[in-house]
Amino acid sequence: LRDATEPVDETELAIEGALRPTSLAEFVGQPKVRGQLQLLLDAARIQQRPPDHILLAGPPGLGKTTLAMIVAHESGRPLRLSSGPAIQHAGDLAALLSSLTPGEVLFIDEVHRMARTAEEMLYLAMEDFRIDIMVGKGAGATSIPLDLAPFTLVGATTRSGLLPNPLRDRFGFTAHLEYYDPEDLERVISRSAGMLGVDLPPESFAEIARRSRGTPRIANRLLRRVRDYLIVHGGEKGAADAAVGAALELYDVDAIGLDRLDRAVLDAIVHRFRGGPVGLSTLAVTVGEEAETIESVVEPYLVRIGFMGRTPRGRIATPAAYEHLGMRHPDHAQA
Ligand code: ADP
Repeated sequence: LRDATEPVDETELAIEGALRPTSLAEFVGQPKVRGQLQLLLDAARIQQRPPDHILLAGPPGLGKTTLAMIVAHESGRPLRLSSGPAIQHAGDLAALLSSLTPGEVLFIDEVHRMARTAEEMLYLAMEDFRIDIMVGKGAGATSIPLDLAPFTLVGATTRSGLLPNPLRDRFGFTAHLEYYDPEDLERVISRSAGMLGVDLPPESFAEIARRSRGTPRIANRLLRRVRDYLIVHGGEKGAADAAVGAALELYDVDAIGLDRLDRAVLDAIVHRFRGGPVGLSTLAVTVGEEAETIESVVEPYLVRIGFMGRTPRGRIATPAAYEHLGMRHPDHAQA
């Protein structure tokens, strides 16, 4: 899955890592999820057992990996990182599970993209800390049971709807991460600015926050571009005031924070399909992007801000979207 919010290189990745909060108290926003996780971790601590398995659902960049790291950190357990696409055979999962140390936290990103055979193995592993390893083929095939060390699975998915029910049911708790409101993003940005040593007028934080698509990863990334601008132009008069505008322009972020792909999708619905409805795959081909990216990255945000609607026959652009594009909605034009 190509994700528009992914860090672009190693340095970016390192900075992103450095900006990650390491405790629930430091984790900004998502009060409901934080409260739920706190209770789950406290209960496990009192009973001195590994926390229940946790499923984290939501669009990219909202803090799923960060929360997995916090779960490990706060419960004082080691963390192992893996991802669905890396588990293409049951054997991959068997190797991973059998190498876990007691109480380890196993994070599987994009858990909905794991191989089906591995998924089935995971059911038993989550429930009984046991797997059955198949040996041989045909009539002579036998299965050898293998006991595992108890572990906590933290699964992340951008598409909880794609998880088979038996897998979803085996998570003790599912947290749905929501897009952040501008106030929370402002706190994320001012925290990061403090850590990166970026000195900006307070209005700048609010400006970046309003245009970060409700996503901490995007907020942090825009802040880094602002920092780059200041490194280059910091000596010039008015540089601090110009920095935010310059960075946003460079990134092709519009006045309300939509990026190039968001606008391409809206533009296609409005101009190529007369406002829709248009099917997801047709839309994806039209903008030259993978359907999964449209569905898990673009669509949730456009729906959330009321620019896109989903009907049984496909996606439509709403009057608000037309207005944003400076156009009249056909229904309104007729009236
Ligand atoms: P996901 O796994 O959902 O794609 P990440 O956990 O990798 O997202 O978060 C992306 C970036 O955003 C990280 O650098 C992290 O520091 C930052 N971030 C995410 N959520 C928060 C939060 N609630 N408070 C502070 N920073 C956050």
